[in-house]
Amino acid sequence: MKIDVLTLFPGMFSGPLDDSIIKRARAEGLLDLAVHNLRDYTHDRHRTVDDKPFGGGPGMLLKPEPIFEAVEHLARDQTRVILLSPAGRTLNQAIARELARQEHLLLVCGSYEGVDERVREALADDELSIGDYVLTNGALPAMVIIEAVTRLLPGVLGDDQSSHDESFSGGLLEYPQYTRPAEFRGLEVPEVLLSGNHAEIAKWRAHQAKKRTREQRPDLLEQKRRDGLME
Ligand code: SAM
Repeated sequence: MKIDVLTLFPGMFSGPLDDSIIKRARAEGLLDLAVHNLRDYTHDRHRTVDDKPFGGGPGMLLKPEPIFEAVEHLARDQTRVILLSPAGRTLNQAIARELARQEHLLLVCGSYEGVDERVREALADDELSIGDYVLTNGALPAMVIIEAVTRLLPGVLGDDQSSHDESFSGGLLEYPQYTRPAEFRGLEVPEVLLSGNHAEIAKWRAHQAKKRTREQRPDLLEQKRRDGLME
């Protein structure tokens, strides 16, 4: 998969994208990632990317010209152009899976008060938010999307089954997990997990996943019911 990012703050990306799973995916050629500075698509002496909003109001907006020029330069026929915005649909695991099936993502990060609306109208195939809160610019949201998508690419996780079993994959939270020691400060691992009985373990895990979801995220069960996946 190829991911291009358009941002005013390319420096924010070094570190998170040069470590852990993303580092490995890049080294193994599973992810081709490039971060582009929006100012490289300006043509004036001051490399201007922003201007005041028409109609007044606080702050500055990203101008359309450099963004249009950059997207037209970087996008191909199969590119999905994603504008990061608190007003977009909220990222979840199903959307991450959908994105992981694409050949090329182009993530457009806003800054200041946001971007000229014509970017959304004429360039964006999708508009994504990472949650109902406002961050200063789109760099962190872009990194969250890159991380969520990269770990779903075939071959990136040591065991591809991990991403099928974890929270949200089947619409439920993950069941509780334990490792050695079997008893720690008087806290014991549930007997069934030590039994070696795989059928019983699977049954216990399914029950626990449902119980935890009911207690901690009943909205997920409601959604499953609405989707017709549960009675
Ligand atoms: N004035 C905008 C509003 O009220 O919706 C907020 C602009 S925000 C300060 C600047 C940029 O950060 C946005 O254009 C977007 O690219 C990014 N951003 C901030 N919060 C975000 C979120 N929750 N999800 C995705 N992008 C976000």
